[in-house]
Amino acid sequence: MSSIQLYDTTLRDGAQREGVSFSVVDKLDITRKLDEIGVHFIEGGWPGSNPKDVEFFEKAQSLTLSHAKLVAFGSTRHPKGKAQTDANLRALANAGVKVVTIVGKSSDLQVTQVLETTLEENLSMIADSIGYLKAKGLTVFLDAEHFFDGFKTNPDYALRVLEVAAEAGADCLALCDTNGGALPDEITVAIEAARKLTTIPLGIHAHNDSGLGVANTLAAVNAGAIQVQGTINGYGERCGNANLCSIIPALKLKMGIDCVTNEQLAKLTEVSHFVSEAANLPPDPFSPYVGSSAFSHKGGLHVAGITKWADSYQHIDPTQVGNQPRVLVSELSGKRNIIYKSREKGIDLPLQGKEAEKLLEQVKLLESRGFQYENAEASFELLLHRAKPDYQPPFTLVDFMVIVESRRRSPTRKSPEDSLSEVMIKVKVGTEVIHTAAEGNGPVNALDEALRKALLQFYPSLAQVRLVDYKVRILEESGGTGSQVRVLIESSDSVEEWRTVGSSTNIIEASWLALADSLEYWLLKQKAVGSSTK
Ligand SMILES: [Zn+2]
Repeated sequence: MSSIQLYDTTLRDGAQREGVSFSVVDKLDITRKLDEIGVHFIEGGWPGSNPKDVEFFEKAQSLTLSHAKLVAFGSTRHPKGKAQTDANLRALANAGVKVVTIVGKSSDLQVTQVLETTLEENLSMIADSIGYLKAKGLTVFLDAEHFFDGFKTNPDYALRVLEVAAEAGADCLALCDTNGGALPDEITVAIEAARKLTTIPLGIHAHNDSGLGVANTLAAVNAGAIQVQGTINGYGERCGNANLCSIIPALKLKMGIDCVTNEQLAKLTEVSHFVSEAANLPPDPFSPYVGSSAFSHKGGLHVAGITKWADSYQHIDPTQVGNQPRVLVSELSGKRNIIYKSREKGIDLPLQGKEAEKLLEQVKLLESRGFQYENAEASFELLLHRAKPDYQPPFTLVDFMVIVESRRRSPTRKSPEDSLSEVMIKVKVGTEVIHTAAEGNGPVNALDEALRKALLQFYPSLAQVRLVDYKVRILEESGGTGSQVRVLIESSDSVEEWRTVGSSTNIIEASWLALADSLEYWLLKQKAVGSSTK
C-alpha cells in the first residue's frame, strides 16, 4: 500500500445525492469496479440504518476483492446508552467486515445544540463505541464530524475529541468538513494542529459546498493526512463530496504519490461512466480528467498547436486516465481542425492547401445555415468523403413527395389514426432509379420507411440500423413556425452509435438530410459501396 489510502464513500455519502438510489446489484457492481482501480477502502453503507445495506453486506461476503477492504459505517452509541446494547454498534460488529467507520461529533456547538448532551458525555460516547468495536477485533476509523467548524469555535474541544479517540484505540482519525465551508489554508492549520497531538494516521473527508472539495483534500494531504475520503464523480449530498476522479490523478500525476498503478489509473474514465450509468445520471461532459470535453479542442489556434505538439493545450496526456483528445469542428475551426479530423478518420485527403480551405469554407457556410457538426461527427465525416473528387455515394435522392392528410370526423376524435402520412420517393443507386412509397405514423417516419424500402433490396444489412433519438431545435425563435430548424438524429446498429445533422426552414427537408446522412454513413462504414448485388 502506498503512503496514501484511498477511501471511497460513493455507496454511502455518494448515494445521498438528490435523485440517486443504488440497488444492491448496483452497489455490488460498483464495489468490483472500485476494487479494479485500486481503491483501498470501500464504504458499503450503514447496516444499522436500512435493510438494503444489510443485504448488501450479506451479498458482499461472496465478492472476491483483489485489493480493497469493505467498510461498514455507523455512528457512536446514543447519549446515556451503553455500547454493548446499542443496536447500531451491534449491526456494525455483525456486518461481516473487518473495518468499520463511526461518526462522532467534534464541534462543541453540535454537541450541545444538536445532540443535546454534555461535552463530557460526547467524549464518553466516542471512547465507549471505539472500545467496543476494538474489543471485537475490528479496525476502527473515526469520522470526526464538523471538525473544522469545531476547530474554529473551540479548538481545544475539537482536539480533545481526537485525543480521546486515539486513546480508545482508533486506527485513523478522519477530519470532516461536513458543511463544506472550509478554505484550504484553514484545513492546513487544523491538520497541522492535529498532527502535533497524535501519531495516529489522519484522514480528510471534505464536502464541496464551496467548490473546494478537491482543493481542501489536496491541502490536507500536503499537511500530512494519509487517508483520503471521497466519491466517484463527486456525488454526494447538496453540492457533493470531494471528487476522487480529480483527486486520484492529481495525487498520482501531479504530486508524485503512487496511490494506484498506471493500469488502474487508465480505468478511471470507464469507472466514472460506469458509476454515472448506475446512478442513472448522464456523464458530465465537463468533468475534469474524465469528461468527454476534458480534452476537446475547438479554437483553431489550439488545434494548430496540438497538431504540432500534443501537449501544447492539455495539462496531462488524456490516455493516462483513460480519456482521449477530441477535436471539435465548428465555425471557429481553423484549417488544421479539418486536417486533424480527416487524419483521425483515416481519410486520405490531399488537404494540404486549397482543399482544406475549401472544405472549411463549406463547413462555415453550412454552419451559418444552421448545421452544427460538433455533435454530428458522422455528417462531418461525410463532408470529408464528399470532398474527394472520386467519391461515389451509395445512393442519391432524385425526389420525394410527402402527403399529410388530416381527417377529423368529429371534434372529439383526434387520435393519430385519423392522420395519414404517406411518402413517395425516388432514389438512384448506381444507374438504377427506384421508386417506392410508404406510410407512417408521421411524415418523418414515412420518409424513413420509404427510403429503407428502396435501399434494402440493394443493402439488406441496413435492416440492423435503428433510429434511437430524433431531436428538433428551432434556431431563431423569433421566426415562429417559419424558423430555421435543426434536426439531430442518433442511430445505432447495436454496436456503434452515430449522430447526423440536417438543417432547413422545412422540418421534413431537415429530417431528410439527417436521415439520409445516417444511412449513407453506415453504408460507407460497412464498405457496402460497390459490393451491392444489383
Ligand atoms: Zn460526508
